[in-house]
Amino acid sequence: MVFCPYIELIFVSMNTRNRYRFFVTIFLLTAILSATGFSVVGQATAPVENWCSKPLRPGLENLKEIKTCKAWFKVYDVGHDTYAIDEPYNWEETIAYLILGKDKALLFDTGMGLDTISLVIKELTKLPIIVLNSHTHPDHIGGNNEFSDIFAMNTRYTRINAAKGYPHNDVKWEVSPASFCIASLPHEDTANYHIKPFKVAQFINEGFEIDLGGRTIKVIATPGHTPDAICLYDKQAGYLWCGDSFYEGPILLTGHGTDLRAYQQSINRMAQLAAKSTRVLPAHNLPIAKPILLIQAAKEFNQIVSGMKKGKPGENHTLIFDCNKFSYQIGERYLAQLRH
Ligand SMILES: [Zn+2]
Repeated sequence: MVFCPYIELIFVSMNTRNRYRFFVTIFLLTAILSATGFSVVGQATAPVENWCSKPLRPGLENLKEIKTCKAWFKVYDVGHDTYAIDEPYNWEETIAYLILGKDKALLFDTGMGLDTISLVIKELTKLPIIVLNSHTHPDHIGGNNEFSDIFAMNTRYTRINAAKGYPHNDVKWEVSPASFCIASLPHEDTANYHIKPFKVAQFINEGFEIDLGGRTIKVIATPGHTPDAICLYDKQAGYLWCGDSFYEGPILLTGHGTDLRAYQQSINRMAQLAAKSTRVLPAHNLPIAKPILLIQAAKEFNQIVSGMKKGKPGENHTLIFDCNKFSYQIGERYLAQLRH
């Protein structure tokens, strides 16, 4: 065991009684510090959420659950031959969607890659699968490499993320004890958790229409959260999939590639579509949101941009703008861009 030289000097000069007092003091100090959540290595640690005992998000109990071979995923029938594939045992609570047509199925996002989503998909449909991502953040592309027919937005941001994936260092916090319930994934090698690169079969652009056979899904470019963020619109069903651009929770505009001006245009465009929609289907927390909430989000965001709505300081140089059922957490450096 190596002591710091100064401590050693002090220690050697002490008599037995003082050495005893010294140990008792160190012991008590460590006990008090760790009881207050302060780790000996000096950084404050967030209270650990026990994802194993944490009840599922209220509202999920109202949905029709479909049992599959993988307990890590919760699958819900959200109507119109559409299934929500939820990962409620990780702090991200990421949701992917399987959208069935007569001839093909579209898998919108592939989750965190913490368990094998393709096995769940095989149980839900025998149709050929096209994969498309709401954006290429790690928690939405984790299972991409399990599939071969991957469509992707024709952006530089997408190409980089597809080519490199996300190494362990970029995503290790997703598998920290505070982030998920390891007991529900005993085989998970958290020390090597990473997001694998994937091969894109076809690059697409704004307005692209995916014909699934008796069902057409339109791709709408809605950059802002990332440069490659998209929404999907099914005019016939009145369904609007909005990725990370909106969900009931803290909407993050903090990461690399955030563009608030682009987000403002996108959220206003999404609000117009929401006015014609019966359901909004976000990529986190709850799979079904009322369209009125997305319309409210546009109003709130316009007030943030105009300066009418004030935020409160949040973690990591962000401001939090509370909007009741959801909030905006925005990087101060991006807000600064708005003001110039
Ligand atoms: Zn995201």
